[in-house]
Amino acid sequence: MSDAFITNGRIMDPANNIDEVGALFIANGRIAWVNGSGKPPEPQTADVYNAAGLVVAPGLIDMHVHLREPGFEHKETIATGTAAAAVGGFTSVACMANTLPVIDTPEKIEQIYDIANETAETSVFPFGSITKNLVGDELTDMRGMYSAGAVGFSDDGVTVMNSALMRDALTLSAELGFPIMVHCEEHNLNAGAVMNLGETSRKLGLIGSPNAAEDIIVARDIMLAEMTGGHLHVLHVSTAGAVELIRQGKHRGVHVTAEACPHHWVLTDKEVEKQGTNARMHPPLRTQSDIDAIIEGLRDGTIDAIATDHAPHTPQEKAQGMLDAPNGITGLETCVPLVFTYLVRPGHLTVSEAIAKMTSIPANILGIDRGTLSVGAAGDVTVIDTDLVNQVDVTKSRSKSQNTPFAGWELNGWQTFTLREGNRIGVRPRSR
Ligand SMILES: [Zn+2]
Repeated sequence: MSDAFITNGRIMDPANNIDEVGALFIANGRIAWVNGSGKPPEPQTADVYNAAGLVVAPGLIDMHVHLREPGFEHKETIATGTAAAAVGGFTSVACMANTLPVIDTPEKIEQIYDIANETAETSVFPFGSITKNLVGDELTDMRGMYSAGAVGFSDDGVTVMNSALMRDALTLSAELGFPIMVHCEEHNLNAGAVMNLGETSRKLGLIGSPNAAEDIIVARDIMLAEMTGGHLHVLHVSTAGAVELIRQGKHRGVHVTAEACPHHWVLTDKEVEKQGTNARMHPPLRTQSDIDAIIEGLRDGTIDAIATDHAPHTPQEKAQGMLDAPNGITGLETCVPLVFTYLVRPGHLTVSEAIAKMTSIPANILGIDRGTLSVGAAGDVTVIDTDLVNQVDVTKSRSKSQNTPFAGWELNGWQTFTLREGNRIGVRPRSR
């Protein structure tokens, strides 16, 4: 923890409706003073950063990350994943439970916190799994894991196909308040699929997954949330139908929140032809009409948050071809410039709306004490140059894996420096 003084920046704190040029002071790792709130401090020992022309936002939160530790340390570790997060402007990440072993007991939640305390560059908030070992036939001790610090529950990677178990999980959510984060793909409709079902899958002769595979589970889970009063969070929305179902659910007063990932509003399934396995993920890249619906959902608030679904895999794993390669792409280091290039610059979201979707809104969904620049809050700050043009350079990545379809892309609007509890994080190595 240290002191820091950021001057001349455009202070942007959506939770407090602040958007004004000024200064921000962090003392002992906490926000101590923000432009306009009383008498300015006189920093003597603080690190001073001039943020003239830059946006000074709360430290960004990525609510959907696969850190792969324990069990898959050849792909990523808590150390390398959070280093990549820090480079990407994130000060907090929430990590999924599909590790080996699966994070399905209170002790394993505590182990994630222990490893993070030792090795992580950002704050780490673990999810526990909904079902034991992600098998889908028996609920975990969610009550115990919640007490141990789980911020929500997810079988991400797979869908809990047993509707009665989902009902029971959402019933406990209604009692205790945590979110149930759902990966929505009907397994039978999705069997063998390696991409979206459509023109491109037919052309390539690959098995595709229909939009209905996602829409059916989103519809079911919204009904179960409505029935139980639980908090449903739909992960990585990829279809126009899911957006509309979530919109209708919200209108009926169902406690449903949702997130979308950059690849689902930037790329279509045509990308599979160009990029092969770096365009293979679940749910898959869809079509332009799905992209249009997701952007409209982000714009009107149907989709609450932006998350990456950072899913690192080694080059050897991704080289196995479309039929055998694992699903997913890295996302932590490219999220901010994709948000600014594809959502803010075209006018779909204001800067403040975009920041809210990566700060205060995910913090509220997870119930974590982050995502604002309120006096007394954690001194987590992300500074963004909305005009900076840069190329995605995977050789400078701090993730262990570089499975991104965005390598070499020129993007406009980048994170420039990041503080966690007043300390600079996410400094890139000069080269590798
Ligand atoms: Zn998923």
